[in-house]
Amino acid sequence: MLRILWAAVLAATFSVPVHGQVSGYPEDLLERVRQAADDVPGAPPESINFIKFAESHRTFAAVIDGGSDEPFVSARTAFQVVYPDGSLMIDAGMDEAVHRFYGFGRDEPYWRDRNDRVQAALSAANLIVVTHEHGDHVAGILRSSDRDAIAAKAILTEAQVRTLNTAPQLPEIGITEQQARDYRVVDYRQYLPVAPGVVLIKAPGHTPGHQIVYVRLAEGAEYLFIGDVGWLMENVTELKLRPAETIARIGEDPEALMAQLVWLNSLADQGLVLVPSHDDRLLSRYAAEGLLGNDLALPAGDH
Ligand SMILES: [Zn+2]
Repeated sequence: MLRILWAAVLAATFSVPVHGQVSGYPEDLLERVRQAADDVPGAPPESINFIKFAESHRTFAAVIDGGSDEPFVSARTAFQVVYPDGSLMIDAGMDEAVHRFYGFGRDEPYWRDRNDRVQAALSAANLIVVTHEHGDHVAGILRSSDRDAIAAKAILTEAQVRTLNTAPQLPEIGITEQQARDYRVVDYRQYLPVAPGVVLIKAPGHTPGHQIVYVRLAEGAEYLFIGDVGWLMENVTELKLRPAETIARIGEDPEALMAQLVWLNSLADQGLVLVPSHDDRLLSRYAAEGLLGNDLALPAGDH
């Protein structure tokens, strides 16, 4: 049933190739990603923590096509994949100056102590990846008192660097070619294993450098950190993009995003935990269910 739906939506959405290429995901992608998760030897991760360091207050109408005027709380988050002997961070938080940029004049919640914990977790991590090059996900590795040490273990993709260098979302997160050399800059075609149980999956659309992060824990649970492909789970389950004004404001590629939503939707019977970065209600539920730890683990002395 899902496969039929998927085929129908693909046919409807991609009958006319956009930018000279069809952006649908191959049917065997998840299988290949699962295999790639075994490529890097070492003990698999055991748990995943998250932290909410800020909020943005919107309406459903602003975040999903056809949404109501009911309030929607967007959580700004970072995630910590915990290994027996180390950790990997997904996304990096942001300082208060970058937070204020997103307020557009409104005063929105920001917890400096929680962002300090994100910074401490970045300093303690063995490896750092970011879902994409927007300030609320990447600023913590660009603007930090521990920036040099953090940069030396932070992976940026060529596409992310290109945006940060030539068209940063805000001037505060712009970087020079020279500064880019301090990071672990990579490029890949479709997916890239980076640590035991962790695979990056290319997903340009929300931004040119957007990627999804696959994580498989030791006991077998699988997660897909879908970043901002959708701001809430209903984008995936209802195959709905953000509203047209929001797509235009961000400069998104709606065809590419729909292909990603279709792929994620097609995985509904695979038992994966889908984690949209900003879906506050869903993340709280995951924490209540024990799927995500509700705070970051820090070395003694950083608490
Ligand atoms: Zn975001």
